[in-house]
Amino acid sequence: HQLEQTLRQLNRLASLGTLSAGMAHEIKNALVAVKTFVDLLLEKNREAELADVVRREMRRIDSIVGQMLKYAGPALPVFSSVRVHDVLDHSLRLVQSRIEGRLISLKRAFNASPDIINGDDYQLEQAFVNLLLNAIEAVGPNGSLTVATDLISAGTPKPKAASTGGAHVKIAIADTGIGITTENMNRLFEPFFTTKQQGTGLGLTIVRRIVEEHHGDISVQSQANKGTTFSILLPVHAHAL
Ligand code: ADP
Ligand code: MG
Repeated sequence: HQLEQTLRQLNRLASLGTLSAGMAHEIKNALVAVKTFVDLLLEKNREAELADVVRREMRRIDSIVGQMLKYAGPALPVFSSVRVHDVLDHSLRLVQSRIEGRLISLKRAFNASPDIINGDDYQLEQAFVNLLLNAIEAVGPNGSLTVATDLISAGTPKPKAASTGGAHVKIAIADTGIGITTENMNRLFEPFFTTKQQGTGLGLTIVRRIVEEHHGDISVQSQANKGTTFSILLPVHAHAL
């Protein structure tokens, strides 16, 4: 029960952060346009008192939104030496209650050695939990879920975002669920893109941001009605090899 609560709180906090940062960003953009327009109007219609009120109120909105962007936005990651397998195990514990009572088989194949990266364990947990929840939601009442890690040694060809040359830990979260249609494939990471009635469409947006902050790469492979695999590459900690 406690874990379920933590899980919900974790998701809500992450969503709120992304949501308010996104909103603040949009409001700021709109405000720039409004300010240009109002300045023009005030030039034509010189009513000093009116101009004062409008300008003061606009400055106020601008400062509130600025504060929102600064404080309500997603927290900056705090990096330390992190064991990916520990974070994965903890993430699995958090979603355990969503698996129980259903015929979902869970396979755990932790092969990466070393599994140490430089990262923010709390944010990584958020990312893994989001991917696990999506997988659990995709498989329905039965199916299988696989969480696997491998070491991808230096020099192996990798996607551009992860081409720092060094070794990487690869984390794959695979499900045998409903899969993703080709037309939805390109939209997965867009904020608010969701195909679920109760979805927020923010999960994968958050996941991608976190992976990018960790200088990693995320990719998806999917087949409709067969299943989906999300793969993340994270650079191995420089002192771990
Ligand atoms: P939400 O889960 O709130 O819909 P997400 O950003 O987590 O938002 O996911 C966006 C969309 O991507 C989902 O609505 C779903 O259509 C698709 N998706 C994500 N993960 C999977 C998966 N494992 N299997 C099938 N579809 C998925
Ligand atoms: Mg989701």
